[in-house]
Amino acid sequence: MVTMQEALSLILKEAQPLPAEKKAFWEAQGFVLTQDVVAPHNVPPFDNSAMDGFAVRAVDTAGADVDSPRALRVRASVAAGHTTGHRVVEGEAVKIMTGAPMPAGADAVVEVESTKEEGDSVFIGKEVRSGENVRMAGEDVTEGSIVLPEGSSIGPAAVGLLASLGHSQVQVHRKPRVAVLATGSELVGVDQDLAPGQIRDSNSYTAAAQCRTLGLDPVRLGVAPDDKESTRRLVGEGLEYDVLITSGGVSVGEYDFVKDVQDELGVDRRFWRVAMKPGRPLSFGVRDGTLVFGVPGNPVAAMVSFEIFIRPALLRLMGHRKVLRPMRKAVLQEQTHNRHGRVHVMRVKAWREGERWLVSTTGPQGSGILRSMVLANGLVLVPEDSRGLAAGDEVDLLLLEEEREELED
Ligand code: AMP
Ligand code: MG
Repeated sequence: MVTMQEALSLILKEAQPLPAEKKAFWEAQGFVLTQDVVAPHNVPPFDNSAMDGFAVRAVDTAGADVDSPRALRVRASVAAGHTTGHRVVEGEAVKIMTGAPMPAGADAVVEVESTKEEGDSVFIGKEVRSGENVRMAGEDVTEGSIVLPEGSSIGPAAVGLLASLGHSQVQVHRKPRVAVLATGSELVGVDQDLAPGQIRDSNSYTAAAQCRTLGLDPVRLGVAPDDKESTRRLVGEGLEYDVLITSGGVSVGEYDFVKDVQDELGVDRRFWRVAMKPGRPLSFGVRDGTLVFGVPGNPVAAMVSFEIFIRPALLRLMGHRKVLRPMRKAVLQEQTHNRHGRVHVMRVKAWREGERWLVSTTGPQGSGILRSMVLANGLVLVPEDSRGLAAGDEVDLLLLEEEREELED
């Protein structure tokens, strides 16, 4: 039996970022760059107006105010997407729209609200500094600079930046192809009626859904009944992927064939049992670069195993450097019993009160009670030597959800 920490480091040692592939920039969201993205040109590419108004020489506005406006001759007009050949000289202005290139000679823009146009003159009602209301070429991005370094993940803003730089393709780490397989002769499909002794498979769906939260598109291989032939065939199929997650059949029951089958198929097992509850019978091994996880069949144990071990591994394969959820200190609101000699992973409702995080358990904590997970937005890790906790004790909290504020009514 290994500790949680040992298990995680054995897994992460094998989970190296996958090779690079080319992606269209707009399909690259959620991927991680394998090389720096360099700006081929400035953004913005030219000096342009930040306002609708009049492009002027700032010196020509010296001393102007509402009561003694300065009259300039309007010599041209330029809209976004157009240019003007007119060069602004002393006493002149060019009418300009937001985003239009600055005409030569002008170094500032007076916003239209501070002007009054009459015939071919404009009365400037305020003084502007050189550069005022002008967006300078390269003020967002300078040509030749690294705008997105290797290892950064591509979010919506980065997608926009790639577009504005004309980078239609980027090099990113390939995402892992994940296969999910449920095992158990008692399992039937969602649409089927239950005969005596049967239950519906939920684990293959929760595992797939957990993968999807990472932007992955897992393949469900279905359900293997508890016989060696079927298990071997489907596990064999799963070994064609980068990651295989099987659920169930990995304990010490008479019909638990997953480990035997893994052995037969040449999976090099790194550990089998982890000192945690739920989730003790968790096997991890490697075959030809495929990471092979056998999570326990109990629905909560399966989900907790994914959260703690498989999620970081998948993020690492995707090339992410930050793969662990942040750990917070929280104050427990009730008494709990944790005399297990293993790390107890409690499912909790966590909320913030001022600077402090408070947690209370989500009711019955059996490893088959999926509702304890449905109601949870966090996991609390209770050390293996704990003999139970009291209300007011400080605990370690893993938050499973981003924080959001409730609407005030
Ligand atoms: P096992 O790890 O195969 O011994 O299964 C432990 C418990 O989890 C048993 O009660 C199984 O019926 C249940 N179980 C196993 N696989 C699934 C699944 N895919 N969906 C829901 N429950 C399952
Ligand atoms: Mg089973």
